[in-house]
Amino acid sequence: MPSPQPEAQDVRRLVPRTDTVLADPAVEAAVSRLGRDTVRAAVGRVQAQVRAGVLGPDEVVGAVLAGLPARATTLTPVINATGVVIHTNLGRAPLSQAAVEAMAAAAGTVDVELDLATGRRSKRGRGSLAALLEVLPEAGGALVVNNGAAALVLATTALAAGREVVVSRGEMVEIGDGFRLPDLIASTGARLREVGTTNRTTVADYASAVGPDTGCILKVHPSNFRVEGFTASVAVRDLAGLGVPVVHDIGSGLLRPHPLLPDEPDAASALAEGAAVVTCSGDKLLGGPQAGLVLGEATTVETLRRHPLARALRADKVTLAGLEATVRGPRPPVWTALEADPDRLRARCDALVAALPPGTGAAVVPADGVVGGGGAPGRPLPGWAVALPEDCAAALRTLDRPVLARVERGRCLVDPRCVPESLDQALADAVREALGRLG
Ligand SMILES: *Cc1c(COP(=O)(O)O)cnc(C)c1O
Repeated sequence: MPSPQPEAQDVRRLVPRTDTVLADPAVEAAVSRLGRDTVRAAVGRVQAQVRAGVLGPDEVVGAVLAGLPARATTLTPVINATGVVIHTNLGRAPLSQAAVEAMAAAAGTVDVELDLATGRRSKRGRGSLAALLEVLPEAGGALVVNNGAAALVLATTALAAGREVVVSRGEMVEIGDGFRLPDLIASTGARLREVGTTNRTTVADYASAVGPDTGCILKVHPSNFRVEGFTASVAVRDLAGLGVPVVHDIGSGLLRPHPLLPDEPDAASALAEGAAVVTCSGDKLLGGPQAGLVLGEATTVETLRRHPLARALRADKVTLAGLEATVRGPRPPVWTALEADPDRLRARCDALVAALPPGTGAAVVPADGVVGGGGAPGRPLPGWAVALPEDCAAALRTLDRPVLARVERGRCLVDPRCVPESLDQALADAVREALGRLG
C-alpha cells in the first residue's frame, strides 16, 4: 500500500482533534451558551483552514471562538436612537428591568396554572389578571390573549359570529402591514354592518342599523391617522344606550387619561361610559410584552374566556409574568421616553457631541420625537438630537451593537429620548466608531 505524501501526513497530525478543541474551557463555555452543533460546525470550519495551511494549529481555539455567533438567536439587540418611542420594527415597547426579571424567572417551571397552597389547578395567569383589575377597578373582568388583534377577533367572534357587527365607515382602519379591520372581522364569521361616512357618523346612523341581528357595536380608535375638518363621531356613552354590547378597541392600552396624549382613548373612561369590553395591545402605551387585553364587564369577559377560540389565542407564561410585572412594577421605559424632559435631552446631546473628536460636523439640533406604533399621530414630543452626516445612519446600523438613528432632510439624527441613560456611554462609543468608519 503506498504511504501518503509525507507533507499530507504531517498536516493531518497537526490538525487538533475535535474532542480536544471542545475540551478547551472557553470552547466548553461556548457550547453551553450556543449548543454543541453550532460549536462543532465552527470547529470543523477551522480544522479545514488548518488543513489548507492558512491557519496554525495553535490558532484553532481563538479562531473557533471568533467564528461563533454572539448569541443563540439571530435577533440582535439594537439601540433605539430614532426618537420613535414605540417602534414596531424594533419590537415596540422595551421592557422594564422588573418585567425582564419576571420573564426570565417564568421561563423555567412556574405556578401559572397551579395553586401551591392546595396543589390544585388554578385559573391561568391569575396574578396578571388581579394586577389589571387592581389598577383598573372600573373593569369587572380581564383576559389576556396574544395581541390586540387577537383580543378584537375574540370579542367579535364571541359576541357576533353569524350576526352583525356595526362599525362606522370612519373607523375601517388598516392596522399596518396590510392587515385591515374589515378583513379581520370577516374572518370571524361576523358580518360587517357599515354605518355613516368616512368623515361623519352620528348616533342616528348606529341606531337605525341596530336590530335583532346585531351582535355588537364595534368602536375602533383610528390610531394611526387623523381626520380633520367637517367630522363627527359618536362617543361610547351615546352608543352604550342602544341596547347592544359596545366593544371599544382603544388600540394603545392607555389605562387612564394622560395630559400628554389628550386625543388617546383610555380604558377607564371607555368603561365608565358604558363599553361592555375594551380591547387593546400590551406592548404599546401600556409598555409591556406583546399581549392583547380584554377588560370589561365580568359576564362579557367570561363569555369570551369560555369561547373555544380563546384557547387558540392564549398568552404564554412568560408573557403573563412580564405583563404582571409591568402593571405592578416601576414605570415602564415607554413612559420614561414619552415624558423625557427636553432640557435633559439637550444636555445628553451636548455631552454626546463633547465626547466626539473635533471636526465631525456634529451639531445639537431641536428634534421632535413621536409616540409611534401607530399611536397619537401628529403629536410631537419636543426634544433634541445630534445631527450627523446622512451616511452615518448606515454605519451606525451595521455596528456589532447596532444603533438605529433617524434620517431626516439629508441628516442622520441621533435622538437620545428612547436610549436609557445607562447606555449613553455605549451610544457615544458607537457614534465615534461609525464616524471613524466613514473616515
Ligand atoms: C395596534 C392596534 C391594533 C392591533 O394590535 P396588535 O397588538 O398589534 O395586534 C388594533 N387596533 C388598534 C386601534 C390598534 O392601534
